[in-house]
Amino acid sequence: MAKAPVLTPRAEDFPRWYQELINKAELADNGPVRGTMVIRPYGYGLWERMQQDMDARIKETGTQNAYFPLLIPQSYLTREAEHVEGFAPELAVVTHGGGKQLEEPVVVRPTSETIVNEYFSKWVQSYRDLPLLINQWANVVRWELRPRLFLRTSEFLWQEGHTAHATYEDARDFAARIHRDVYGAFMRDVLAMDFVLGRKTAAERFAGAINTLTLEGMMGDGKALQLGTSHELGQNFARAFDTRYLSREGKQELVWQTSWGSTTRMIGALVMMHGDDSGLRVPPRLAPVQAVVLAVKDDEAVLAEVREIGARLEAAGVRVRVDDRTDVPFGRRAVDWELKGVPVRVEVGPRDLADGTAMLARRIRDGKEPVAIDSLAALLPAILEEDQRLLLDQARERRESRTADVSTVEQAVEATADGGWARVPWAALGPEGEAKLAEHSVSVRCLVTEDGAVPDADETPGNVAVVARAY
Ligand code: AMP
Repeated sequence: MAKAPVLTPRAEDFPRWYQELINKAELADNGPVRGTMVIRPYGYGLWERMQQDMDARIKETGTQNAYFPLLIPQSYLTREAEHVEGFAPELAVVTHGGGKQLEEPVVVRPTSETIVNEYFSKWVQSYRDLPLLINQWANVVRWELRPRLFLRTSEFLWQEGHTAHATYEDARDFAARIHRDVYGAFMRDVLAMDFVLGRKTAAERFAGAINTLTLEGMMGDGKALQLGTSHELGQNFARAFDTRYLSREGKQELVWQTSWGSTTRMIGALVMMHGDDSGLRVPPRLAPVQAVVLAVKDDEAVLAEVREIGARLEAAGVRVRVDDRTDVPFGRRAVDWELKGVPVRVEVGPRDLADGTAMLARRIRDGKEPVAIDSLAALLPAILEEDQRLLLDQARERRESRTADVSTVEQAVEATADGGWARVPWAALGPEGEAKLAEHSVSVRCLVTEDGAVPDADETPGNVAVVARAY
């Protein structure tokens, strides 16, 4: 008899598969207030690994961490006209505190450009104070109407970078550096994610930015997801908050700024980009647990051996967990680790032990074979690296095979109807074409040049629009 599937197959109902996976792999639960989320230890472990790696990369750029308050005077938000218009519908506003109505309502930060600028304008005096490079790890609240766990929650965790520079060029280059060398490198090299690096069209830009750079990934169903953004803010916030510096020439000048953010959405992206019908597949470089060593049976020699293997793998630099919970049926434990996407399982039973072997099950390559116990510690690091590469290759192949080159709005709508992306010359669309696509729930995810680089401006000749249905 065929085994009943653990999850609804992706091809049958992708959104349902996603929900079931999040739940059964113990990543998160819905919170009691609509749109909020409880992140469970296994999901939070993924986030902590993301934070550690990204934090180091952010610091390498010379950026320092700081912390700004959760509550912001409502009046701050109104100072930059586009910013307030963009965020007003998503604001959570606190009107009462300490049992009394507040004189001025305060908002729960949806992002921190305004409060950061209030303080930048005090901290920046002269060109010697620039560039000022600040990052914070925090939670923000945006009252989302169509929440989805990890992808779009009303409260989410993120890092938000805020920088001030003396020149336009310096700010532009810094935003590009974060986009490519921090987000791009982290997502490719650690998350094994495939994406397109591009810029948003004017219609899709961050509220208050002069340019938004984005990373767009293709999910398992062919739809697009924005993985991270890096904005050039120009002098818009500097003007609103009067953030000026004394130049070398002795003149008062407005600073040029950037802001950039990446969020717990990356966990949802990981699920939808790498997951399969058996569950999540965690890239080995990210995985909090890279290998689990399972005792198949409650047998003294087996239990001693799994502990010994665990110690040897740990000494070889593998993040390992020993599963000796023999009071839970072996089959259930194996399925559970599969759901959680642990890259390698080492299974040891009495019969294997007699042969000096263990069963090695690879989650990413999807194979199971006996290997000599003595060779495990030498084999595993190379296997993990191989499977890391395989995940990236699979994601890249999917995007390439599901992207069509087309030349009109109609063809783009058709090419993306069942998921999949289209590339259309931007000259054939323009803002009108973009609006027409939107009527069919298709959006311009980003603009790239003909050879795939990030263009300087919407009008750069040879721009190509990457078009898709999106989350
Ligand atoms: P933004 O500040 O709007 O540029 O957003 C920064 C990053 O947060 C982008 O990469 C978005 O994809 C992501 N993001 C936006 N809204 C949410 C949300 N409700 N939940 C999780 N991530 C989000």
